[in-house]
Amino acid sequence: MIPVPGYEDQAVAVFGLGRSGRTTCAALAAGGARVLAWDDNSETRTRAQADGLTLTDLDRADWSDIRALVLSPGVPLTHPEPHRLVKRAAEEDVPVIGDMELFAQAMAALPEERRPKIIGITGTNGKSTTTALIGHILKKIGRDYRVGGNIGVAILGLEPPRASTVFVIELSSYQLDLVHSLRCNVAIWLNLTPDHLDRHGDMAGYKAAKFRIFNNQTAEDAAIIGIDDDHSAGVMNRLKAGRLQTVIPISSGRSLSHGVYALGGKLRDAVSGPVRDVLDLDSLVTLPGAHNAQNVAAAYAAVRWLGVPSDEIADAIETFPGLAHRLELVGTHKGIRFINDSKATNAEATAKALASFDHIYWIAGGRKKEGGIGSLAPFFPRIEKAYLIGEAAGEFAATLSSAVASVEAGTLENALDLAARDAGSGGRSAPVILLSPACASFDQFRDFEHRGDVFRMLVKSRIGNA
Ligand code: ADP
Repeated sequence: MIPVPGYEDQAVAVFGLGRSGRTTCAALAAGGARVLAWDDNSETRTRAQADGLTLTDLDRADWSDIRALVLSPGVPLTHPEPHRLVKRAAEEDVPVIGDMELFAQAMAALPEERRPKIIGITGTNGKSTTTALIGHILKKIGRDYRVGGNIGVAILGLEPPRASTVFVIELSSYQLDLVHSLRCNVAIWLNLTPDHLDRHGDMAGYKAAKFRIFNNQTAEDAAIIGIDDDHSAGVMNRLKAGRLQTVIPISSGRSLSHGVYALGGKLRDAVSGPVRDVLDLDSLVTLPGAHNAQNVAAAYAAVRWLGVPSDEIADAIETFPGLAHRLELVGTHKGIRFINDSKATNAEATAKALASFDHIYWIAGGRKKEGGIGSLAPFFPRIEKAYLIGEAAGEFAATLSSAVASVEAGTLENALDLAARDAGSGGRSAPVILLSPACASFDQFRDFEHRGDVFRMLVKSRIGNA
């Protein structure tokens, strides 16, 4: 755990006692703060008490000596309206921050020569993949590293750093909203498409929250920007105009005179000197598709900026085991690949999966999301047949209609068996059985992880671990 300095014997309120909230309480207490912990949910309060936390009802507390209100990322700051405690904090002139800000303060308190490097990663999609990939590269090359934030362990739950440590931190817009003094030595902005507008109000609010990743950067730092969508290209131009940090553009699909880009199945480094091919992207079975090429380009550029030679980075990327539930290759049998993309809970994510393969035997459905799967029509020619499960099966069958053969399979198990039979006898080269549901999982599973775990287990039980 990373103890938080700067609040010795002072009161700090923590609202939201989920996993990261409880870790925050412990890290504050370890630094000597007096923690006032509260959650509106009585079950969560009970669990926190079982963890040894003392509770303080923040509606009744004396706010006069509270130094800061630490909020869980999910608590509304402004939209649809500020949470009552956010309003109260404003009235009492108490700063509202998140655990990431406490982490930033803890790092800033270290003497400069003992300060670790920080790589921050944000974007609408690809954050976890890029974060995990950078962590993997650092592990392979033997660097001391910690991965956390919006992925895995809460940031204050990580081991305290050494001077040589590199923190690799996934930053959601929710977390960035609550951070002020974080300095990312490398800030990665992958992409930006409309999402989470319920929290941020509109695209401008969402973009402004994410833009905070560049706050506090200096001339010694780097900003790595995916420029394949218009919003992000605008961000690059804005940073370039500011002439502060080094800006390194990345692209999947476009050649760049300066930057790192994926084109023709190769990753190309044009950051300094003549452009060089550094990696064969088609050989990366755990990182398929153009969207993953963007993640690879970002991870490569970040570690390269730390001074690691290209070939060492490329070798490390080739051994990335992949992330569970995101185009995860769970087995290969008689030429059929079985892919678990259970994390794809909407059509946009499923579009990336369908774009990554041909001859697809597609398992989809679950609890439907707004918008359905009409937007996937351009990918229908890649689908041999669809196996539809859960509540959305009927609606999806109607959308696929005559364009794609489909069957309402009911359960995931049945869908897998039907798809395996058809893929085995279809005579297609390199068929793929793809679970990419374009739906939430809650009608049949606890969550997307549970759905993906069941799929993996079913595949293994049928083909062994081959
Ligand atoms: P995040 O952490 O931002 O949610 P993940 O790495 O978990 O992102 O990937 C989630 C889904 O988003 C993947 O299953 C894939 O469909 C899609 N995706 C991944 N990387 C990208 C990218 N660079 N651009 C667009 N979509 C992506």
